[in-house]
Amino acid sequence: MVAPPLVHIGMLRLVIPSKGRLYEPSIRLLRQAGFHLDLDHDRKLMATSEDGNLRVIFARASDIPDFVADDVADAGITGRDLCHESEADVEELLELGFGKCRLMVAKRESDAWKGADALEDGVRVATSFPRITRAWFKEQGTEVDVVPVGGSTEITPHLGVADLVVDLVSTGSTMAVNNLEPVETVLESQAILIADPKKLDEELIGQRLHELEWVLRSVLEAHSNRYLMANVPKEDLENVREMLPGLSSPTVLDLLDQEDMVAVHAVVPESDVFGLVRALESLGASGILVTPIERLVP
Ligand code: AMP
Repeated sequence: MVAPPLVHIGMLRLVIPSKGRLYEPSIRLLRQAGFHLDLDHDRKLMATSEDGNLRVIFARASDIPDFVADDVADAGITGRDLCHESEADVEELLELGFGKCRLMVAKRESDAWKGADALEDGVRVATSFPRITRAWFKEQGTEVDVVPVGGSTEITPHLGVADLVVDLVSTGSTMAVNNLEPVETVLESQAILIADPKKLDEELIGQRLHELEWVLRSVLEAHSNRYLMANVPKEDLENVREMLPGLSSPTVLDLLDQEDMVAVHAVVPESDVFGLVRALESLGASGILVTPIERLVP
């Protein structure tokens, strides 16, 4: 798809978390996508990008799915976990690569575990995700007794309030500190861009939503890749070509006064850079340069 320039996005309303762990990365992503927001006031509830293309509304991360479904905003950024729990009618447009975590079943370290399907009905599970939890255990064939809590879920098994917990885990250190052991994954979550599916089909707003998705995607693509340049011996060009899978074939340029060398430019995955530089060096490459990419449209 060839997307029209950014200027066509118009005044789209995007609701993002007002605080918490998804706030900073959301603002950073918008800035990188070219939306500059004036965030001077601490308690601002709304901000408009300098170019007038985007109105950003700040809200609690858990309210965002409903705000998008209820037309408070056209699109939103929040955690997939919160979207599933709210059961709001929203469509996931794009994974944003931050806020990664897992919603997991955890037990006391000292308890045995034979699998969720081996549990007896009536086991008490404390969670702030009651809908997801009930549905997931049902799928495993167990009717659990869900104990809804607003926070401090990890303490409940030690207080005799619950037998198990279902909670978000990223590093696992909070669970370990509380003598809990995660045993099964209920949901893989991260921050996502969401929209009302009905609006996606509308002519003008649908196009604007896809443009926003396209702009954000180009920033995310750029961040996972690097632009690599190197001068390589002409006779090794075929080997170098095979080494650089890249997005498209590498650009090869002649070098002034160096007839036996050529300059090779290519877009390569960030995770491959270390290995590629070593391999290029061993082939006699020189002047190796790796730079970040601002936007990438494959
Ligand atoms: P916060 O506003 O900081 O409570 O952010 C909550 C959202 O951040 C959750 O709904 C998840 O989508 C995401 N998240 C990522 N890692 C974690 C974690 N270890 N604990 C809680 N939330 C997390």
